[in-house]
Amino acid sequence: MTVTTSQREAIFKRYAQERDKRLRPDGLAQYVLLTGRFSRYAEDPYTPMIERDPVTDDVTFAFVGGGFAGLLAGARLKEAGVESVRIIDKAGGFGGTWYWNRYPGAMCDTASLVYMPLLEETGHMPSEKYAHGPEILEHCERIGKQFGLYDHALFHTEVTEMAWDESRSRWRIRTNRGDDFTAQFVGMGTGPLQVPKLPGIPGIDDFAGHSFHTSRWDYAYTGGSPDGAPMDGLADKRVAVIGTGATAVQCVPELAKSCKELLVFQRTPSSVDVRGNHPLDPRWFADVSKPGWQQRWLDNFTANWEAFGGVSVDDELEDLVQDGWTDLARRMRDILRALPPEERSAERMMAAFEDADIEKMEEIRARVDELVEDPQTAADLKAWYRQLCKRPCFHDEYLQAFNRPNVRLVDTDGKGVERITEHAVVVAGREYEVDCIVFASGFFVEFGISLEERAGFDPKGAGGKSLSQHWGEGMRTLHGIHVHGFPNLFVVQLGQGAALASNVPHNYVESSKTIASVVQHALDGGFSRVEVTAEAEEGWVDLLETHGRAFGSEECTPGYYNNEGRPAGRKERRNFGYPFGAVAFFGLMDEWRRSGTFDELRFE
Ligand code: NDP
Repeated sequence: MTVTTSQREAIFKRYAQERDKRLRPDGLAQYVLLTGRFSRYAEDPYTPMIERDPVTDDVTFAFVGGGFAGLLAGARLKEAGVESVRIIDKAGGFGGTWYWNRYPGAMCDTASLVYMPLLEETGHMPSEKYAHGPEILEHCERIGKQFGLYDHALFHTEVTEMAWDESRSRWRIRTNRGDDFTAQFVGMGTGPLQVPKLPGIPGIDDFAGHSFHTSRWDYAYTGGSPDGAPMDGLADKRVAVIGTGATAVQCVPELAKSCKELLVFQRTPSSVDVRGNHPLDPRWFADVSKPGWQQRWLDNFTANWEAFGGVSVDDELEDLVQDGWTDLARRMRDILRALPPEERSAERMMAAFEDADIEKMEEIRARVDELVEDPQTAADLKAWYRQLCKRPCFHDEYLQAFNRPNVRLVDTDGKGVERITEHAVVVAGREYEVDCIVFASGFFVEFGISLEERAGFDPKGAGGKSLSQHWGEGMRTLHGIHVHGFPNLFVVQLGQGAALASNVPHNYVESSKTIASVVQHALDGGFSRVEVTAEAEEGWVDLLETHGRAFGSEECTPGYYNNEGRPAGRKERRNFGYPFGAVAFFGLMDEWRRSGTFDELRFE
């Protein structure tokens, strides 16, 4: 498709109009935490709490968070010979995101072979190209068992205090279960998208029917199971889903099969491309899974996704993974390759990107027309923004669900649900009576809530300074992991590291290697304390600020990618990743670990 100037102008005009409709003065303040009067929404519906005695011992490593970050760190520490590793999680088991998000239809959106960590170590072959939630959760449990991580784990436990005791070179950790123990090293992997948010819609408290957030799916009410058993409890129910992000895209097709009536309340449509899920063939996998395969696949995915981070546009780059993300990147790359080298000015390349994006989005919009029978519904389901303004979605049943007679899209024309009453959801003055509301309203990201709200505690480092004080002007770390003034503490996060959002686990795969190698170096050398120097931390923050990549564009329709469309201040920009990209960052980390000298850290 050749994009003419007038087409381009018309499309960008529409993008701007749709964006402006959605800008709100309250930005992130439109959302509420699941605390106080909303705390019932946060309860664990999956595992009963088991009474236990408080622990008061000493462990070598305590890690807060039992999702992929904690499991990977735990596994690598165990491999490095660290026996006493304790993982603490507020959930009733391992899994993190996959523990909580058991909504029907949940599956990974990045190919399983790169999304599910430690496949080579565990010998597990994912059953599908994009594995479903129960299989991923089971894999988390498999990792926990194989690496002995259940031995010291504390579940249904929230850390309330974590303070560095200089006299003993130990962290003292206290929890809401009365535990009071010490650890030589601590890690924090509390997740980038784990604090659920509810829309602060007027009247939300007045609703007398049943309601829950997608990350606490109430199967006791809906019937069915995460494995796909029919949700019989909904056969006579009118159900509202509020939200049409990546979660809704996955659970709407399942709800559509079970509800008497399903009303999907939409503020901004998702872009929904082809998924093409299929079972994996064991013979094919046997051929793929030669020693070292998963790291090769991870590196290949990331190289393809970035394509320009360290790999020149013209180099041949095999795409091993071939999922929705690498397909998107390949398309961009092909467009650039088609430009003769002498025409590759920054301006021309940007224009080529824009055209590639328009082409892709036109394809996605045309797909809606192909699949959705009712023309008005189809028009409403079309996403009018650049593809990476919002999380791209991939699904083969979502759009078709709106052809069912029991399913109805209620488009709010960018305004959102107006009000909730005792029995209804109100849009543009019209009441839609429902028995149940499912909030598919997403999660807070790093900004918008405090560190304590996000992690549940605020570590106190040397001299009693809290991490939130240290980060008062924005995050400060070396490599996103080490923090000056917080000896023996490791943060596992995307910010100030690779910030690879297309395959989050790859970030953790690399962080876990770093943690294990630093801890091993400290233990082998008989050091009791390791801390990044103030100069090294300052240098890293400077580098990030000097070469900082653009924060999600303000031109985009608002969402958590761009601070709800509000200008990003210095503080928000500090959460961003290594300016030269994930491939370069992982390469740098690899070299840093191999050097074995860890120059920026002081071991004592
Ligand atoms: P999102 O934040 O992406 O979506 C929340 C939805 O709620 C949006 O559609 C939002 O509209 C809507 N909303 C908020 N307030 C209102 C309101 N007042 N009225 C009507 N609608 C409202 O959350 P998700 O849980 O869908 O996804 C979060 C992230 O989790 C994803 O982006 C993805 O990174 C990850 N995820 C990954 C999956 C995977 O890999 N398989 C699956 C699911 C999630 P608006 O867009 O206008 O703000």
